[in-house]
Amino acid sequence: MTPMPIPTSMIDPFGRSVSYLRVSVTDRCDFRCTYCMAEDMTFLPKKDLLSLEELDRLCTVFVEKGVRRLRLTGGEPLVRKNIMHLVRQLSRHLASGALEELTLTTNGSQLYRFADELADCGVRRINVSMDTLDPDKFRAITRWGDLSRVMESIEAAERAGLKIKINAVALKGFNDTEIPSMIEWAHGRGMDMTVIETMPMGEIDADRTDQYLPLSQLRAELERRYTLTDIPFKTGGPARYVEVAETGGRLGFITPMTHNFCESCNRVRLTCTGTLYMCLGQDDAADLRHSLRASEGNELLSNAIDEAIGRKPKGHDFVIDRRTKRPAVSRHMSVTGG
Ligand code: SAM
Ligand code: SF4
Repeated sequence: MTPMPIPTSMIDPFGRSVSYLRVSVTDRCDFRCTYCMAEDMTFLPKKDLLSLEELDRLCTVFVEKGVRRLRLTGGEPLVRKNIMHLVRQLSRHLASGALEELTLTTNGSQLYRFADELADCGVRRINVSMDTLDPDKFRAITRWGDLSRVMESIEAAERAGLKIKINAVALKGFNDTEIPSMIEWAHGRGMDMTVIETMPMGEIDADRTDQYLPLSQLRAELERRYTLTDIPFKTGGPARYVEVAETGGRLGFITPMTHNFCESCNRVRLTCTGTLYMCLGQDDAADLRHSLRASEGNELLSNAIDEAIGRKPKGHDFVIDRRTKRPAVSRHMSVTGG
């Protein structure tokens, strides 16, 4: 057997190895979560999107350059037409051993249709975003989502053998008092859960300073009820985990606002138009679509990626500005995919 070529790893100027790529396969979504999008969003014209073949080619170059984990996100990844074709194509890198993990983050609205096929393609874990267990509140926060569909999806994913993590954005006055029942529900089903601080990305209809709940405060509240023990568990992402003694489950905290997790950042983000963001919280980006389309070979593209990684910044500086109420980053989370 010919030995697998050892991927050359991408190292940024601060010595961090870039081994994780998140790909937003579409900016569109079938929900309009109030903290993520405005109700009346203008989406990219379809002609600006990379084709699934182009996305596959780009991801493959990243895998050849040392990416070991790949997460599809969006917008809602499962609303992109023929998305399973891309998943199936990418799964060849799992089969070859070049990729350790292929996964996705979804709102769960369509997952019930794809769970079996995802498992068949070698997807082992998925993140399902869900901010409440109350159907009326769910409809309100997503502007029209149907919680029973998401529940159906979770059941389908469980049956398919996918490991599920629930992601909930902590929102003051919306779900802060409900987090304990969500933890007990998730842990009761053997699912991990992660809470996320709201990040000031893109214009939305609401005032973000009203929604922001520092997770240090949430943690202190949870500690009045539960015994939380810090554990070294890592999934390759920025979450810090605790074990909840009373439920025996794991709870992650993603705290971009109160804790700077940039020092261990191993990731870059690609949008559906081929723009590479080296940091979620900064505007600097590289246009890889141009290099992709400029030649049939991958050398130009590979050089453009190296050049971009060489500009990966040390970190972000999110601030929710109480005076101007402007977002720190003008693009929506649905563009870079969270
Ligand atoms: N549509 C999919 C979903 O909801 O899981 C994938 C894309 S969504 C942008 C990825 C994650 O980002 C979700 O967990 C969502 O709750 C989170 N998110 C969106 N806007 C956010 C914001 N302004 N601050 C923090 N998290 C946000
Ligand atoms: Fe859509 Fe996900 Fe944004 Fe909600 S958080 S609007 S589901 S992209």
